[in-house]
Amino acid sequence: MAVPFVQDWDLIQTLGEGAYGEVRLLVNRQTGEAVAVKVIDTSQGKECSENVKKEICINKVLSHPNIVRFFGHRREGPTVYLFLEYCSGGELFDRIEPDLGMPEREAHRFFQQLIAAVEYLHSVGITHRDIKPENILLDDKDNLKLSDFGLATMFRHRGRERRLNRLCGTLPYVAPELLSKLEFSAQPADVWACGIVLTAMLAGGLLSKLLRALPEERLSISELKTDPWFSQTLTSSSSHNKLLCSDTQLHRNNSDRVQFSSSQPDPALGVCVWEGSVCVGGADQVSFSQPARPDNMLLGSQLLGTPGASQTPWQRLVRRMTRFFTTLDSSASCSALRDTCIDLGHTFKHTCTNQVTVSTLDRRNNKLIFKVHLMELDQRVLLDFRLSKGDGLEFKRLFLKIKQKLSDIISTQKIPLPVT
Ligand code: ATP
Repeated sequence: MAVPFVQDWDLIQTLGEGAYGEVRLLVNRQTGEAVAVKVIDTSQGKECSENVKKEICINKVLSHPNIVRFFGHRREGPTVYLFLEYCSGGELFDRIEPDLGMPEREAHRFFQQLIAAVEYLHSVGITHRDIKPENILLDDKDNLKLSDFGLATMFRHRGRERRLNRLCGTLPYVAPELLSKLEFSAQPADVWACGIVLTAMLAGGLLSKLLRALPEERLSISELKTDPWFSQTLTSSSSHNKLLCSDTQLHRNNSDRVQFSSSQPDPALGVCVWEGSVCVGGADQVSFSQPARPDNMLLGSQLLGTPGASQTPWQRLVRRMTRFFTTLDSSASCSALRDTCIDLGHTFKHTCTNQVTVSTLDRRNNKLIFKVHLMELDQRVLLDFRLSKGDGLEFKRLFLKIKQKLSDIISTQKIPLPVT
């Protein structure tokens, strides 16, 4: 997939996949600047196209150090390109060890940055509606960047707040009132999702096992005592016990994003959308329109000053924990991976020469699909695992299982990471 109009910018790699397309890394041949481009195919339906318009509209309003910066967008037929700040630190879920979480100090810093982002968002009348570790990215200095405003909406305009009624988000992160009430306030629902993110950072999936609705599925004390997080020795008293009483949602049996219907502009909020441009009317007016000559837009002046000019190829590789080098060549590494995946009952498919797709079901019977890219770097083969669909923590759990099974062929030489 090429980005046709982007001269002087090389498409380096796919950073991630979403429901409607891919996010790719673009690097400027001359300056080395890096940006992420989200490529969305809107031919999938009117709903998708309306959602993209809204995502663009919302992105344009936002400016905060803990929110992924939006540089602009381009439209080529049915394809829309959103140019975004490149977050080379990868996704937050990658830093969460299943069942263990992450060090409390780190979780605390990330949580403060997340709350700063959400507080700002609410101050401008916008709710994210899909806060989860997969939508929280990190930059090269491990600063948190809230991302993916595909489900975001405006809940306050000119001081007038509206209650929401659309059930959307991702089930384990959805607040209880969304399921029990016809109408609910936007802000507390985002706060709930932040709470679930915090529990995931501090204790991985432990809480969910304690709070299963069905008593027979609930963790027993003897099982609890074998849990890695429970049994670790803590040096200081844990400060997150209070959270234990607030999590009633994680027992949900489905981690897929909740179906949502088209995010139509809300006339009550004075939002109107017409071909290619979006305008929010009113006294505290924010107006957006396409530039008169869209062809001249972006990738000239607007991208100057983007970070990354001094990055080496290694530094540009997004920082991910879900990868390792092997001691074998590419084809032998691929065979070993295939055998392991097949042993584990997964479906293994070659998508192209150096990429395979693995599909399976996670522990909750939800679809889990990931891609493994085999790359030759410094005469070694890197197996780079990337989630395509499913729950981030389940993906991480499975990655660790595969890694353990392949331990015989894993190179112990360190992987150089981007300098932070
Ligand atoms: P979803 O199906 O979750 O709605 P989406 O189509 O909205 O996905 P995103 O969630 O925005 O797409 O991006 C998909 C993935 O691409 C992210 O999880 C992340 O790994 C990667 N990604 C997105 N934006 C960036 C960025 N600015 N820098 C680095 N990686 C990114």
